[in-house]
Amino acid sequence: MSRFLNSFHKNLLPYTPGEQPVDMQYIKLNTNESPFPPSEKVINAINRCEISKLNLYSDPECTALVKRFSELYNVRPENILFGNGSDEILQYCFYAFCGADKKAVFADITYGFYSVFADLFHVPTDIIPLNHDFSIPLEKFMNVGGTVFIANPNAPTGLALSKSEIVDILESNKSDVVVIDEAYVDFGAESVVDLIDIYKNLVVVQTFSKARSYAGGRLGMCFADQELINDMKMIKYSLNPYNIDRLSIAAGIAAADDDSYYKNNAKIIIDNRNWLTAELKSLGFEVLPSCANFIFAQHLSYDGEKLYLQLKERGVLVRHFSNDRISNFNRITIGTKEQLIILADTIKAILNDQE
Ligand SMILES: *Cc1c(COP(=O)(O)O)cnc(C)c1O
Repeated sequence: MSRFLNSFHKNLLPYTPGEQPVDMQYIKLNTNESPFPPSEKVINAINRCEISKLNLYSDPECTALVKRFSELYNVRPENILFGNGSDEILQYCFYAFCGADKKAVFADITYGFYSVFADLFHVPTDIIPLNHDFSIPLEKFMNVGGTVFIANPNAPTGLALSKSEIVDILESNKSDVVVIDEAYVDFGAESVVDLIDIYKNLVVVQTFSKARSYAGGRLGMCFADQELINDMKMIKYSLNPYNIDRLSIAAGIAAADDDSYYKNNAKIIIDNRNWLTAELKSLGFEVLPSCANFIFAQHLSYDGEKLYLQLKERGVLVRHFSNDRISNFNRITIGTKEQLIILADTIKAILNDQE
């Protein structure tokens, strides 16, 4: 770090993104992107006409995009806010609802950005260890006296809470904001968007990066009571009012117009997940029951980091975390059936080679 860096940031540990290699072509199963391209409608919406208007700022209220999602989700426009990726929405939540006197509460094994934002904003944390089986210890999320962040389904475990379990958390934390991060909800968990009218403390965050095949475009959104939305808007207008560019506004509207395309892709991913789960179990893996577009798996007699490195050497990228509790596991994104067949064959070859 330079001698000019603000000492406030001297211990900051930034988020480590999954590898995005440019040196060679891998079967890329490491960052939970969709293996399917955006809808044709989205591709056609990002056209010469939209590009030729890039000299003009985008609509900071995203009026047309908000209106379209208001119809699609049956939620009032004043209860919706878009972000430059859902990471930006999460950042708003830390800015708006956490501080020196309001800690952030989240699990020890969950989305890495929660602890990064807590560090960045010097927010105190209460980090709750997951149960031995990686399930969320519900009772420890009751009456926490801080802003709660839960990824549902959780990452990188893939395990999900039921709606009634989330209701229990909302009921017991009525004087604090509860953020439910539904990045992976389309792959088999229950959404709680319809609870925002009942629970004025609920923020539901979703992204276009996973089921909506738009990770490279950066678009996320949240649903919440109007007062919470206005708090977050205050932050947005203090940071970057034009956070959603014109092309993403057009793309988002077109995505809403082809919702069935994305729903169908999610079904294919679920089928492929079921196939891969059975396949890996037959090869001696423990696979956690996943509700997401990835699985979290460990081999009972082959080291997790070694497997990750061996796969990489053979052209298949998965995600390995060195965090003690999960260092024997790998997180494997569910790709196309063709990709998963290659993955399974490569794992078989690696396991055979050691014998
Ligand atoms: C991928 C992911 C996000 C966000 O991604 P964006 O690309 O910023 O929308 C948020 N939360 C979780 C748990 C994720 O896995």
